Amino acid sequence: MTKSVEIVEVGPRDGLQNEKTLVSTQEKVAFIHRAIDAGAKRIEIASFVHPKRVPQMADAEDVVRELGQIDGVTRIGLTLNKRGALRALEAGVDQLGAVCVASDGFGLKNQNQTSAQTVETAKEIVSLARGEGRTAQVTISTAFGCPFDGEVAQSHVLEIVNQLADCGASEVALADTIGVAVPAQVSRLVQETKEIIAPIPVRVHFHNTRNMAIANVWAAIEAGATIIDSSIGGIGGCPFAPAATGNVATEDVLYLLNRSGIEHGLDLDRIIGTAKWLETLLGAKVPSMLAAAGDFPC
Ligand code: ZN
Repeated sequence: MTKSVEIVEVGPRDGLQNEKTLVSTQEKVAFIHRAIDAGAKRIEIASFVHPKRVPQMADAEDVVRELGQIDGVTRIGLTLNKRGALRALEAGVDQLGAVCVASDGFGLKNQNQTSAQTVETAKEIVSLARGEGRTAQVTISTAFGCPFDGEVAQSHVLEIVNQLADCGASEVALADTIGVAVPAQVSRLVQETKEIIAPIPVRVHFHNTRNMAIANVWAAIEAGATIIDSSIGGIGGCPFAPAATGNVATEDVLYLLNRSGIEHGLDLDRIIGTAKWLETLLGAKVPSMLAAAGDFPC
């Protein structure tokens, strides 16, 4: 099994996008700096979607500008279409995150495209980024189930993986957008994905809607995933997925990794401190377990 994994901090984008309280550009930048101070090397800092659809991300360009370039840190901009990709490149992000959807139901609601069309769009976004000398990765959302279509065939997800295998993406992620995956399903899909795309790494993205996220992270690592998305405090959701709740919490993942002897390069105490800072910022308790229980041994 792998001795180290990479954490992608998604709190500033996936975490905040569903928050009703509008968070200011300065507060977002402060949040990102806290993640960096805690050791985060790759951070999803904003999404470049229409501001009417996701008002919380209307200041994406300002966040990139205020933050500036930071040595050793990859600032990811999430994009769902070519227009968003051009905006993100123009703003100056280091890496584009493209999203394709494994089910037509979610694809049409989220991106107004069928599953097949979203794959084509994701490939276009990757080549746009590469043309500008930047990297891009692709996330397959609803890879474990769709809020509208129900079960998603693993064979269909693997077909998409096959189509992405040589598009130039720096990694391919399997995302459980609505938090329905279980570890056995995760093991199978990560293993098969890895076989198809190696040496391109597999990233995973879990939501804790049904309390399975941390178990799914472990199953994914055992099956060969080397990059984990997580959000400080476990905040987040999806504006277009009914009843989707938070991402797996960064601090919960770090606890799992620390006590299992897997390196990650982040500082658990500082991440817990930031989760508590978020509670003040958002005026509500965050869902993570570690923010409440603390590290062990203390
Ligand atoms: Zn998510």
